[in-house]
Amino acid sequence: MLIALFPKKCYIPFRPHSMRILKGSEAMKFSTRAIHAGQEPDPTTGSVMTPIYQTSTYAQAGLGENKGFEYSRSGNPTRAALEACMAALEEGTYGLAFASGMAAETAILALLSAGDHVVSCDDTYGGTYRIFERVMRRYGVEASYVAARNVADYEKAIRPNTKMIWLETPTNPLLGLIDIQKVAAIAHAKNLLVVVDNTFASPYFQQPLKLGADIVVHSTTKYINGHSDVIGGALVTSNEEVYQSIKFYQNAAGGVPGPFDTWLTLRGIKTLAVRMRQHEANALAVAQFLYEHPRVEKVYYPGLPSHPDYELAKCQMSGFGGMVSFQFKGTYGDVAQMARRFRVFALAESLGGVESLVCHPASMTHGSIPRAIREARGLTDTLLRLSVGIEDIEDILSDLEQALAAGR
Ligand SMILES: *Cc1c(COP(=O)(O)O)cnc(C)c1O
Repeated sequence: MLIALFPKKCYIPFRPHSMRILKGSEAMKFSTRAIHAGQEPDPTTGSVMTPIYQTSTYAQAGLGENKGFEYSRSGNPTRAALEACMAALEEGTYGLAFASGMAAETAILALLSAGDHVVSCDDTYGGTYRIFERVMRRYGVEASYVAARNVADYEKAIRPNTKMIWLETPTNPLLGLIDIQKVAAIAHAKNLLVVVDNTFASPYFQQPLKLGADIVVHSTTKYINGHSDVIGGALVTSNEEVYQSIKFYQNAAGGVPGPFDTWLTLRGIKTLAVRMRQHEANALAVAQFLYEHPRVEKVYYPGLPSHPDYELAKCQMSGFGGMVSFQFKGTYGDVAQMARRFRVFALAESLGGVESLVCHPASMTHGSIPRAIREARGLTDTLLRLSVGIEDIEDILSDLEQALAAGR
């Protein structure tokens, strides 16, 4: 019912670079998959690195005789390599790459029809909330929101027309955790699809498909690419029917990434494992530093034993990630002053790059959420979110130390 909108066998996936590696990938460890999955040496030249197939179309030998590619909206070899690599990292069967994280989200939401309902959590990326409220609602798809961490509330929020549960964990920006396994059990008892936005953890620290999710979605703009030079998105699923429907939509709607962006993303992924380890080591040091600091009211980091979801984080994730949020003990004016004082941290939206960023969610990433709703969720004017980079930790901590003196 859910995906009856699209013809089933509309597209036969062809992955020239990926077949051999993907088949044996269960035997290979994460870092190896990150470097090799989907990336066989190029069959025509032996080029070790996947070429940037900067072409819109492909010559056909005769009528109906193509080499698996006809037109780059439908498929492109550089993109196919990224799609296969993403699938291997999330340990799913099928990957699809998009021009942005939001394009990937939109493709998933296109599984729904007018009259359908989605249950989401209340602490998602601001753009996710915006597309539910300002776009999907006009198409007759309704979303309701439950307090992210209350597993029982997901069940209560399910209506007869609910088709999907949309999770983001760790949540943004308060870094709470949702028990994916428990929510998936509730959803699957009612035949609902479970989508997990895995942007914050990256597949290095969390693999939602293994916990029961049906679709994993990423803004590859963030940790996956990791160098703040590409906007991109991707999704992975092992559900053949879901894959065929979204693949059809990807070609029909056309929100695909270009060959150069997919190549940059493949290049970034090669260091995902080492980057994530360093992001986490630095973030833990930052979280501990803030926890001790007299001008910090509260620290949100799932790797601190004081975090309410510390135990869940230890079993659901294999690490705690590189994001740290905190409440500053001071006025909005102090925060505004602090924002100008940072030297290592750049005041900027986004996250997951090698460089440290600081964000003021209330005025930046979450500015599109009405103030009353925002504040009820704890996104106050004195909340700051850090994307802790992989610079030298001493420089990161001394920058925080001097910035936190704002208003004194
Ligand atoms: C950035 C982000 C998105 C949107 O991705 P874009 O690449 O900016 O379109 C979605 N979810 C999360 C958690 C994000 O951080």
